[in-house]
Amino acid sequence: MLSDGIDVRASRTHNVGLFAVRPIPAGTAVWCPCTACSRWTREQVAALPPGRFERLDTYGHLLADGSLLLPCLGAYLMNHSCEANVLDLGLDFGVAVRDIAPGEEVTCDYATFTEDTGWSMECLCGSPGCRGTVTTAQGADPRLRERWRTRVEAALGGLPRVPQPLDDVLTELSEPYRRARAGAHTLAEVTTGSTVCAPSFALQTPTEGPHRTPTPGLTPTPAP
Ligand SMILES: [Zn+2]
Ligand SMILES: [Zn+2]
Repeated sequence: MLSDGIDVRASRTHNVGLFAVRPIPAGTAVWCPCTACSRWTREQVAALPPGRFERLDTYGHLLADGSLLLPCLGAYLMNHSCEANVLDLGLDFGVAVRDIAPGEEVTCDYATFTEDTGWSMECLCGSPGCRGTVTTAQGADPRLRERWRTRVEAALGGLPRVPQPLDDVLTELSEPYRRARAGAHTLAEVTTGSTVCAPSFALQTPTEGPHRTPTPGLTPTPAP
C-alpha cells in the first residue's frame, strides 16, 4: 500500500520513481506491505524462470518465509537512495524520516531488504554519502543500523502528530504502528518482530515469542 500524495514521474536515477505532490511531514507512514500486495509462495518463486524472478525481485522483495512480495499501488516503484527519506528499520511500514517537499523523490534504502541474500546494485543516487554499491549485506552493518535507528526513532516521535493517510490499513495490520500511534517512539518499544520482510499478517507467525530470532540491536525490552 502506498500513501496518496505521491505520483509516478521520470526519475534522474532510474526510468521512473515516486515523487511527493504535496508536503509529506516527517513521521508520515508512507508505505507498507498489505493484503492487497501480490505475493508468490516459496514454491512459486522456485518455479519462476530466472529472468522473471530477477525482474520481480527488482521491484519486489523476499519475505522471511521465502515468498516474494510486490508492493501494491505503485509502491514497488520506490527507488533507493543512500540518503533515503523513508526508512523501515524494525518496522513493518516505511516512515518519512524527514519532511519531504512537493517535487522531491521519495526514496527508501534497499539495504534494509535483508532477506534478498546476496543482492547488490550499483548506486547512482549521487548523495554525498553514497555507498557506491548497495548490498543487502549492508543491512547488518552496526554503524548503518545505528544511523537508521536514530532517524527512525526521531520520526516515530512525530508519527502521532501528523496526518496518516494509511491509518486505516496500518491500524488493522501493524502492531508497531499501533504502538507508535499510542506514543511509543523507541524501536525497543515498537518493534515486535513484524517487519517489511516479515509482516505478521503475511507470515502468520506470532509477533512475539521465544522461537523468533530477534533482530540484532532491536531486541524488545524483556518483561520484568
Ligand atoms: Zn499492498
Ligand atoms: Zn547511493
